[in-house]
Amino acid sequence: MVRVRFAPSPTGHLHIGGARTALFNWLYARNNGGKFILRIEDTDTTRSTDEYIEAIIEGMKWLNLDWDEGPFRQTDRFDIYRSYIDRLVDEGKAYRCYCTAEELEQRRHEALEQGRSPKYDGRCRESGQEARSKGQGAVRFRMPQEGQVIVNDMIKGSVAFDNNQLDDLIIMRSDGTPTYNFVVVVDDVDMKITHVIRGDDHLNNTPKQIHIYKALGYEIPEFAHLPMILGSDKARLSKRHGATSVMAYKDMGYLSDALVNYLVRLGWAYGDQEIFAREELVKCFSFENAGKSSAILNPEKLLWLNSQYIMKTPAEELVEFVKPFLVIEGIISEGQDLDRIWLGKAITTLQERAKTLVELAKSLRYYIAEDIEYDEKAKAKFLNEKSRDLLVELQNSLATLSDFSHTETEKVFKAITEKHNIKLGNLAQPVRVAMTGGTESPGIFEVLEIVGKEKTIKRLEKAIEAIG
Ligand code: GLU
Repeated sequence: MVRVRFAPSPTGHLHIGGARTALFNWLYARNNGGKFILRIEDTDTTRSTDEYIEAIIEGMKWLNLDWDEGPFRQTDRFDIYRSYIDRLVDEGKAYRCYCTAEELEQRRHEALEQGRSPKYDGRCRESGQEARSKGQGAVRFRMPQEGQVIVNDMIKGSVAFDNNQLDDLIIMRSDGTPTYNFVVVVDDVDMKITHVIRGDDHLNNTPKQIHIYKALGYEIPEFAHLPMILGSDKARLSKRHGATSVMAYKDMGYLSDALVNYLVRLGWAYGDQEIFAREELVKCFSFENAGKSSAILNPEKLLWLNSQYIMKTPAEELVEFVKPFLVIEGIISEGQDLDRIWLGKAITTLQERAKTLVELAKSLRYYIAEDIEYDEKAKAKFLNEKSRDLLVELQNSLATLSDFSHTETEKVFKAITEKHNIKLGNLAQPVRVAMTGGTESPGIFEVLEIVGKEKTIKRLEKAIEAIG
């Protein structure tokens, strides 16, 4: 059974790169009918916070990446790690090291000056077994120094590392806290992880971890190291490339399915298909189609995908997604209820044009607001002497309608334009400005139907007054 994990360090929000790693793990688990485990790697207690743990979980939930086990926290598991460390020390596979930070720094410095490798010189390797008066000391892993280790990677192929390049790494600091390369192996063993899927910034750690697996006598899992995501200047993705946190995309009005669809294509392809339903992704996903080179974040493409998702998402669903943005934009107040069916209808007229939920919310303003403001240019061009009498006539006719459907209002428009022998636009544009404040909107009859009779009449009155 496939068992994979996403193992974020809670030292920041869930970012684009982390979310892509989580997604590939999730897809691999779901594609194989396996298990997806969430593990919080919080051993760096100086940088990890509970707020970040919550933020990561919030991001995972928003992306609908559900996990089957966890979240486990490494800080709850120190006793387990210590028992494994004791075992390695007892077996002579790890040893206590009493070199102080200053001594290490001085030797490192000397080595670099003399053109030698700055790695640990092995001073305590043979001599440090009995505890000294200095106290516990740190624990170092006795790294094999001859030969090579080969990482067989599902994406990178096989990558060889010379063992003599590998340091006797510290697996427990002198304060008793275990370190990343060690706990990750213990956890992956303990949680029966079959495939380690993570960013290729960890590829250099993998040979060290393989030696730890071997020392503990456990089977080595499969590895897949995902190429990094870069900004448009090919530098590692950072804040200066724009939003990197997943929840920032939520705030900017992206749909999580659109973001997921975008993320999967950063490092995976299926022919030239761009849009995938979630079930389709689960079905098609495999590492055979994973890209070997780094991916470049393309905000325009993400925006395009988002517009595609807004277009195809049923309006009833968009109703829920757009509501918070209506509040943020000040169009409705917190807790204000809008008729869902009515709002769905309004959305249907706009969803083809909105690229984000923010745009969608903003474009709903004239449907919902009590009053509208005119765009000055539009007002000057269309609300004037020429349109005044037409608007009065229209207002009078519309006031007599009992059925305010778009078919009925259309008949009224037709009668007026035929009578005066004018084009529909000559009447529709002034009405559009009166109804929406501007010159662009969905079909005018749809707009009238959604705004409703009462508000329509009021807005026409106001426009006539504005003309004077
Ligand atoms: N905690 C590591 C990170 O956030 C991931 C380690 C791993 O996946 O092995 O980069």
